[in-house]
Amino acid sequence: MSHHCPNCQRLVYNRRLKNCGYCAAPIPIEIQFTEREKDALDQKMAELQEQRKEREREAERKAAEKRHPQPYHHHLAPYANGLRWFS
Ligand SMILES: [Zn+2]
Repeated sequence: MSHHCPNCQRLVYNRRLKNCGYCAAPIPIEIQFTEREKDALDQKMAELQEQRKEREREAERKAAEKRHPQPYHHHLAPYANGLRWFS
């Protein structure tokens, strides 16, 4: 379902705004997000943010491992003799 400005008929791309982003006409309350929708959206954004942070942490952890191999690997290394374990 799309929502359009009653004044200029353009798509209301940001329903958080109280006024049209193009002509600044007031957006009728019924096509603005309800508080509940806003909450749901905020929640969704927070989740995405959290996932992104998680991926960054993971990438950072992998990069750190590359720079400083864990002692764990050194422990295993003798068993990987001649197998080019790290390549
Ligand atoms: Zn408008």
